[in-house]
Amino acid sequence: MFGTVATTPARAKTSPKANATKKVNQKILDRSSEVLSRLKTIYGAPICELTHESAFQLLSATILSAQCTDARVNMVTPALFAEFPTAQKMSVADVSRVEELVRSTGFYATKAKNLVGMARNVMERFGGEVPSAIEDLVTLPGVGRKTANVLRSVVFDLPGLPVDTHVGRLSRRLGLTKEEDPVKVEYELNAMFDPKDWGGFSLRLILHGRRVCDAKKPKCDVCELADICPSSEMPYGKLKQTKKAK
Ligand code: SF4
Repeated sequence: MFGTVATTPARAKTSPKANATKKVNQKILDRSSEVLSRLKTIYGAPICELTHESAFQLLSATILSAQCTDARVNMVTPALFAEFPTAQKMSVADVSRVEELVRSTGFYATKAKNLVGMARNVMERFGGEVPSAIEDLVTLPGVGRKTANVLRSVVFDLPGLPVDTHVGRLSRRLGLTKEEDPVKVEYELNAMFDPKDWGGFSLRLILHGRRVCDAKKPKCDVCELADICPSSEMPYGKLKQTKKAK
């Protein structure tokens, strides 16, 4: 999980946000806008693939999705939410029972502890309502910036750009950033797009990463971004890279 961003004046000068908003190269801006436009055409309305019926359930499912596929999480959550559908119910759950229910998602002991801890915090500190401010969300057990931004964009319809492994990889392949640190990637991407597009851009990039731009075997031959992607393995992409190198 990702940490919080320092907000003290002394650090603000060198914070990822400050660096990212300094200046975005016009070529990169043009490419980012073209990427977003094409992804909108390809994937339409963005979809969150984690099954949920409330902010609490999406928060729980997102905590479970760490190092695990959404498909696996969706196999586990029906039984979990049948027994513990709300923060109130989960806050008084026996951790060992939660462990049993989430075992197949991996790291189950930590995840179960975080689910119950998160629910207790929601009950005790936020009156039973999952908060929407990122500063509050990241204080909950098991919740980092990525998870907080999922909640903000999917449930609360607020600006939030979750950077997971797909978003990081594709942003670098598409030449939108060189950063490896997810928080720095998030701030760089935020500076390129209208806040209303942050969540949708992330969700669509995740879909593209899963379906086309695989970590090990990107399918550049069928990718609809190949002609504008500096990492394309198609002749056009290679040509561009060769020209750049000269
Ligand atoms: S062209 Fe290849 S590397 Fe670039 S986004 Fe498409 S699949 Fe990924």
